[in-house]
Amino acid sequence: MKITGDMLIGASAVRGTDATLRAFDPARNADLEPAFGGGGAAEVARACELAEAAFDDYRHAPLETRAQFLEAIADNITALGDTLIERAMAESALPKARLEGERARTVGQLRLFASLVREGRWLCATLDSAQPDRKPLPRSDLRLQKIPVGPVAVFGASNFPLAFSVAGGDTASAFAAGCPVVVKSHPAHLGTSELVGRAVQKAVADSGLPEGTFSLVVGAGNAIGEALVAHPAIQAVGFTGSRRGGLALVDIAAKRPVPIPVFAEMSSVNPVFALPGALAARGDTLAAGYIDSVTLGVGQFCTNPGLVIGLADPDLDDFIDNAAAAIEKKSTQTMLTAGIAAAYEDGVKQRDASAKRIATGEKSEASSGALPALYRVSAEEFLAKPQLAEEIFGPTSVIVICRDEDEMILVARGLEGQLTATLLMEQDDVELARRLLPVLERKAGRILANGFPTGVEVSYAMVHGGPYPATSDSRSTSVGAMAIERFLRPVCYQDLPAALLPEALADDNPLSLWRLRDGQLGPN
Ligand code: NAP
Repeated sequence: MKITGDMLIGASAVRGTDATLRAFDPARNADLEPAFGGGGAAEVARACELAEAAFDDYRHAPLETRAQFLEAIADNITALGDTLIERAMAESALPKARLEGERARTVGQLRLFASLVREGRWLCATLDSAQPDRKPLPRSDLRLQKIPVGPVAVFGASNFPLAFSVAGGDTASAFAAGCPVVVKSHPAHLGTSELVGRAVQKAVADSGLPEGTFSLVVGAGNAIGEALVAHPAIQAVGFTGSRRGGLALVDIAAKRPVPIPVFAEMSSVNPVFALPGALAARGDTLAAGYIDSVTLGVGQFCTNPGLVIGLADPDLDDFIDNAAAAIEKKSTQTMLTAGIAAAYEDGVKQRDASAKRIATGEKSEASSGALPALYRVSAEEFLAKPQLAEEIFGPTSVIVICRDEDEMILVARGLEGQLTATLLMEQDDVELARRLLPVLERKAGRILANGFPTGVEVSYAMVHGGPYPATSDSRSTSVGAMAIERFLRPVCYQDLPAALLPEALADDNPLSLWRLRDGQLGPN
């Protein structure tokens, strides 16, 4: 498939005339062909009007059609073959194996949502029978189901050009909920976005769905994204990226005449609590695993462990020495964009002013490269300098040394909201872990033991979310089946005649759903 540099608005390819954009190869330090035509408010309006026009037909299409549509997107992405991988490699400097894995994850994610759509539990079909003889007042017949909120705007992340982009988790979960989607292409992977966009566009047509079910807009600067969030047809926003970008969109959404929710996944330092028993038993392996996790994908993961917290003792000293030795063997790697590399360099420079750098990676000639860096501070210093708890996107981390358990709890209590919190522990650490757990539950969306947080499974029980600033809304997740909840709302039907009831709530349960009927859950 050829990349043309056009926007995809409904069934059409549209050449933007407001600006010219080019994709960039950060490893070769060179522009990529072709040039893209950037659009503006007019194209956003067209895409949003089409999405609004598509909404009722799309949400009322049979669930089987919706599920097959998601599977068709997965098939079309797979059919792009190496063309997609090669373009994504050129635009992101990410290695082939990583991008092949990410494609498998993206396709698997679409298939997970297809099976979720078929299974129908997300409809939350609930029936409370009428009680005409109840005293002192009769009770009405009440039935509840969830319906999609309306067209959704999606802003993909720079660091996952497939799994968190055009057909990533936000788009897949919005489609699964029954929402048309307008994606704003990420400037760091314009060609990858167009290829995947065309795969989605083809699936829309082949599934006989209205053309406005999907559009992909491209633009220079913030204006196009601002216009998208402000458009009255848009009813919710999915975003992954910087705290500044996410908050800007939250602000626009809140100031609309009709405010809408923004589900922004933003920043997290993913604290790892290295408990004494674990460090005594296997500190050297843990140090190696920690540094592998910090430097994986040039540290460009939202779940990168940017903080390790331990208790002052000789085992922690050994852990620090081993981690320092391990990071010194990691070399400079090319980052996703020159902008991200510059932000990393600046962040590390500022960190040098507030913490002791104990080790640095090996310099290489990689363009837009990031040199891994490891820091240590006392808990006292850490608590006094809030900037040490801020995310630096890239291969760097801080080790915080606590005097005692109480100080460790104090550090945990002082943390901002996080995507993850990790406990490295052995059996003799259980009591300390038990003290930490209630604190960590209030801080993080996912708590893990004896692993590292990079690597987010796409499954039913996954939570990739958490309190601010990890996200702008901690009540859901952007990865896993529960992500669909963001784009649904409940409607209660009171005393509606059978002829008007949605299929999911009909007496004879024609969709064979598991329903809560008079308080009993089952296929009833
Ligand atoms: P970003 O700068 O926040 O951009 C993400 C998307 O939002 C882009 O499409 C961008 O479009 C758009 N956008 C940003 N600010 C906007 C605004 N004020 N109005 C309208 N649209 C806006 O994130 P990024 O490009 O992925 O990476 C930059 C930084 O984000 C990194 O250095 C890192 O710190 C952080 N990051 C964090 C995570 C995480 O999960 N924690 C993941 C990726 C990146 P335009 O650029 O075209 O305006």
